[in-house]
Amino acid sequence: RCATAIAAVLLAGVTACAGDDIEMAAAPDPGTVGIALPTKDSARWIADGDNMVKQFEALGYKVNMQYADNDVGTQQDQLDAMIAEGDRALVIGSIDGTQLKTQLANAHDKGIPVIAYDRLIRESANVDYYASFDNFKVGVLQGQTIVKHLGLAKASRTYDIELFAGSADDNNARFFFNGAMSVLNPYLKKGTLRVPSGQTQFAQVTTAQWDGAIAATRMAKLLSAGSNPDAVLSPYDGISRGIIETIQKRGKKVPVVTGQDAELDSVKLINSGVQTQTVYKDTRELAKVTVQMTDRVLSGETPEINDNKTYANGVKVVPAFLLQPVSVEKANLKTVLIDGGYYKESDLA
Ligand code: BGC
Repeated sequence: RCATAIAAVLLAGVTACAGDDIEMAAAPDPGTVGIALPTKDSARWIADGDNMVKQFEALGYKVNMQYADNDVGTQQDQLDAMIAEGDRALVIGSIDGTQLKTQLANAHDKGIPVIAYDRLIRESANVDYYASFDNFKVGVLQGQTIVKHLGLAKASRTYDIELFAGSADDNNARFFFNGAMSVLNPYLKKGTLRVPSGQTQFAQVTTAQWDGAIAATRMAKLLSAGSNPDAVLSPYDGISRGIIETIQKRGKKVPVVTGQDAELDSVKLINSGVQTQTVYKDTRELAKVTVQMTDRVLSGETPEINDNKTYANGVKVVPAFLLQPVSVEKANLKTVLIDGGYYKESDLA
């Protein structure tokens, strides 16, 4: 018995055999990862957080996850605390991508690596990696949906559209908008598409904090001013639902409306033919990429990236791993979301 014990002890790298009491060397504690996320208002961020916690814990990490209620000051305080408490790495889904410079500089001074999660963090050299989706492509998919459903390629008349963008402090919002406009602009130029409100610039169409209620108010104003669009470009499901409800309240037919995140409430609306589309981004995959990135950095290895040119943050180009978004409409909803295990068939009831 002692011979086996000695072998085990040697394998474990421990040199003493104290009779029958064998002390195995404990696995080194990989420490705590701080995860700072913007809000619990939208289902996607809750799923993002849950997926990351599961995967970090499976690798032995402890996790300190905080949501900031879309408040920049709260997120700054949460990051200050994570740094003070000695978290070994920070994964940050920022609220305002330009407001974290001080925190990131402190993290850098302490050798704490920073991964920007889903949203780029701007104006700081202290962002090590970025894990996200191809955000321009998200907009392209939304634009293509509008072109397809209005039949713009062969249109013999002018169609009306109103444009909505996301929160201006989120770097993604501009990427989504530019992606969509890259598809829509040729039709606006040709005159096949027209924006009755005349509001076509990003700054005119943003939605603070991605808030569906703010979008609903803007939509109500547009309708009151006489706009009766055939399509609405919406960047995110919560905004899409605000727009749809406003139009329904006025007793009007719901136009072609895009979206993003495959939120369950919107998926149900797509299934029943009310919302036209959403862009599905598998948060399980984003969590996987982020957890691997973080683990590799903390293990002194180089994480895998697939983009080193797109995400210039004002100070540096942040090396990124970008996943592919998928356009979901009624026709492919079941294949993508149910067969893919994101939702259960019974969730749609
Ligand atoms: C995310 C989107 C999300 C939006 C609002 C963006 O940064 O990329 O998936 O719809 O924030 O939460």
